[in-house]
Amino acid sequence: MEENNTKSIKGIKIRSLNLLMIFLACILYLLLIYATFYASHYFSTLVSATEQFVTCEHNADLVQEYSDYLTEQTRLYTLTKDPEYLEAYFREILIDQHREHALEALSSHHAGDEAFVHLQGALDASNGLIEQEVYAMMLSAASSGYDLKELLLKLPLDIPPEIQNMELPAQDLNLTSKELSDKAREIVFGASYQESKLMIETNITYFLTHILDTHKKLQSDSTQDLKKTLTRQQILISVLFVENVLTFIMIIQLIVKPLQIYVSNIKDEKKLEIIGSYEFKYLALTYNSIYELNVANEATLRYQAEHDPLTGIINRGAFEHLKQFFQSNPKPLAFLIIDVDKFKLINDGYGHEIGDMVLKKVAKLLEESFRATDYPARIGGDEFAVVITDVTLSLSKQIQNKIISMNEVLMNPTDGLPKVSLSVGGAFSENGFTEDLYQKADSALYDVKEHGRCGCRFYEDMENQTVENS
Ligand code: GH3
Ligand code: MG
Repeated sequence: MEENNTKSIKGIKIRSLNLLMIFLACILYLLLIYATFYASHYFSTLVSATEQFVTCEHNADLVQEYSDYLTEQTRLYTLTKDPEYLEAYFREILIDQHREHALEALSSHHAGDEAFVHLQGALDASNGLIEQEVYAMMLSAASSGYDLKELLLKLPLDIPPEIQNMELPAQDLNLTSKELSDKAREIVFGASYQESKLMIETNITYFLTHILDTHKKLQSDSTQDLKKTLTRQQILISVLFVENVLTFIMIIQLIVKPLQIYVSNIKDEKKLEIIGSYEFKYLALTYNSIYELNVANEATLRYQAEHDPLTGIINRGAFEHLKQFFQSNPKPLAFLIIDVDKFKLINDGYGHEIGDMVLKKVAKLLEESFRATDYPARIGGDEFAVVITDVTLSLSKQIQNKIISMNEVLMNPTDGLPKVSLSVGGAFSENGFTEDLYQKADSALYDVKEHGRCGCRFYEDMENQTVENS
C-alpha cells in the first residue's frame, strides 16, 4: 500500500536537484578559474610587452649615451693629451663596457630579421668607431712623443694583446707632431667619424621602431584576448548569480514553504498537505498514514476506556465523567439506578455465562427503551444507571411504564434465558446532577428492594407518601 503511494508521488527530488545544482556550480567555477587563469596570463603578457619595450628604450639610450661618452673621452684626449681621458676611455671599453652590454641586451630581443640587421649594423658601426678612436688616440700619443702601448701599460688595466700589438701605419711614422695631432683631431671630429656615429643612432632607431611595432602588436593581441576573457568572466559570474538565485528560490519553494505549512498542520492536529518536493510529499504521505492509524487507535482506546466490554454500554468511569458534566450543566434531568433482582441465584443456578447473557439482555433493553439523548450505563456487577435528559417530575409515570414494560419482557423470556426482574430507584433534579441525586435514587431503589423488588419508585413519590402518611 505504502509502496503504491510512493510510486504515485510526483515531484521534484531535492536530492537530484541539489546534485544538479552542485554539478552546474562546479562546472561554472572551473570555467571561471580557467578564465581567470587566462586573464592573468594575458595581463602578464601585456605588462611584459610594455616592460620589454621600456628596457629596450633604456638600452638604446645607454648605447647612445656611452657612444657619446667614448667620443667625448677620445676628443678630450686628442685635444689635451691628458692620460686621464685615456684611462676613462679604456676603462669603459675594457671593464665597464656599458655600450656593449646594452647592445647585447638589445640583441637578446627577438624582433625579427630586419630588426636584427639594423642591430648588427649598429654593432659593426660601434666596432668601426672603436678602431677609429684607438687610431686617433695612437696618433695623438705619437704627436706628444709617446707610444700609446707604453702609456696604456702604465694604466691599472689589463690591456688585451690585440691593442698592445697595434702599430701606426708606416706613412704616419714620417709625420710631424703637429701633423699627427691634426690627423688625430680630424679623425674624431671628421665627417666619417660623425657618419659612423650617425649610423649607430640610425640603426638603433630603426631597431627600436621594429621592436615597438612587434610589441605594439603583442600588446594589441593581448588586450583583445584580455577583453574577450573578461567578457567571458562576466558572463560566467552572471550565470553563477542566476544559478544561486534559482537555488534560493528552490530552497524556499521546495523546503521552507512546505516546512512552514507542515508545522502549522501539525499544530492544528491536521493531516499534512501533499506539497513541495518529492521528499516532502513522501514525508506527508507517511505522516498521514501514521496519523490516520493513530486517530483510529485513539478512537478504539477511547471507546474501550468508556464502554463496558460485556454489554457495550458506557461503564462506571464514563458514567462518573457524565455526572461531572451534568453537575456543571444545570438542566432538568432524571436519574435511575437499576439492579437485577436475586441475580446471584441466576449465576448460581444457570452458571456465570448465562448470568452474562442476562446482563447483556438488560443493557440492550435499556438502550432500546430510552431515547438516544439518554445515557444508560453499567455501574456495577448487576447494577445499571440511566441519566434521562430534559425531563421533569411530570413524566415519572411514563418512565415507570418503561420499567414495567422491561420487566414484562424479562419475566416472559422467549430467548431461553431465565426469568429476571429489575428493581429501579429514581430521582428528579431541576439543576443538573445535584450532589444528593445519587443518594436519593439509591434510597428509592432500596425502598423497591424492601417492598418486594420488580418495580420502579421515585424518591419524590416516597417523600409525598411520607407527607401523606404523617
Ligand atoms: P438483590 O436482589 O438483593 O440484588 O440480590 P442479588 O443476588 O442480585 O445480590 P447482588 O445484587 O448483591 O448480587 C450481584 C451479583 O452479581 C454478585 C456477583 O456474583 C454477580 N456479578 C457481578 N458481576 C458479574 C458479571 O459480570 N457477570 C455475572 N454473571 N455475574 C456478576
Ligand atoms: Mg442484584
